[in-house]
Amino acid sequence: MGREERIAENLTAIQQRVADAAERSGRTAADVTLVGVTKYVGVPETEALIAAGCRDLGESRPQELWAKAAALSDLGRSAPAPAPARADPPGAGLRWHLIGHLQRNKVKRTLPLLWLTHSGDSLRLLKALDQSATALQGCARVLLEVNISGDDAKHGFAPDELPVILPQLAELKQLHVQGLMAMARLAGDAEAARRDFAALRELRDRLRPGCPAEVGLDQLSMGMSRDFEVAIEEGATMVRVGSALFEGVAG
Ligand SMILES: *Cc1c(COP(=O)(O)O)cnc(C)c1O
Repeated sequence: MGREERIAENLTAIQQRVADAAERSGRTAADVTLVGVTKYVGVPETEALIAAGCRDLGESRPQELWAKAAALSDLGRSAPAPAPARADPPGAGLRWHLIGHLQRNKVKRTLPLLWLTHSGDSLRLLKALDQSATALQGCARVLLEVNISGDDAKHGFAPDELPVILPQLAELKQLHVQGLMAMARLAGDAEAARRDFAALRELRDRLRPGCPAEVGLDQLSMGMSRDFEVAIEEGATMVRVGSALFEGVAG
């Protein structure tokens, strides 16, 4: 089997598993966005994934996102990218998701390419995104990354910081917060992951009553190759799947 066929087959199988898990949680596949994480592969494999029908693409490093967005988009070669608030995101209907840490000195260059930043992990970064969006006369869509497992190595807000942070975010007019993002603890099985995902959902539910109207909490980005089904069962609206999409394909 060729590389293209294999990637298409992997995508179809994962879409089916997403749909089944969504059904188990009383929802449908349309309620869950599958973000195809391309950080392990190059442009040809990414093109195959797009050709197979995946339009939401995720990268964890800004530089890699710049390179792929340029390679995959006529806009990247010929014209400045439009402001992110436009209905049509740059890159032939592609929606780029940044899922890893964004340094503030890379905000200006990265934001015009992005559909959504999952890794809004500090107030300083969120302020920089708001400023850049204002300069672009657009908006910056973000999720608030939460260190739900308390792992030392992880970025993100501590759960008990959020009640203080949310009112401050309401003041950032070009920042559009859409929800929360988290990763399950590194060490642990599917049931440990389930507890982390449930904890993120419960945190969201606790934050809702005191949350300013300007701050959205509907989206829950949680779940990767090894635990996306559990995440959907616990309420994920976005899953970030990389290695499972490229299984059997030399990277
Ligand atoms: C790499 C990465 C993923 C995808 O991981 P896989 O296990 O390959 O599916 C998801 N989310 C984040 C934040 C990542 O860095």
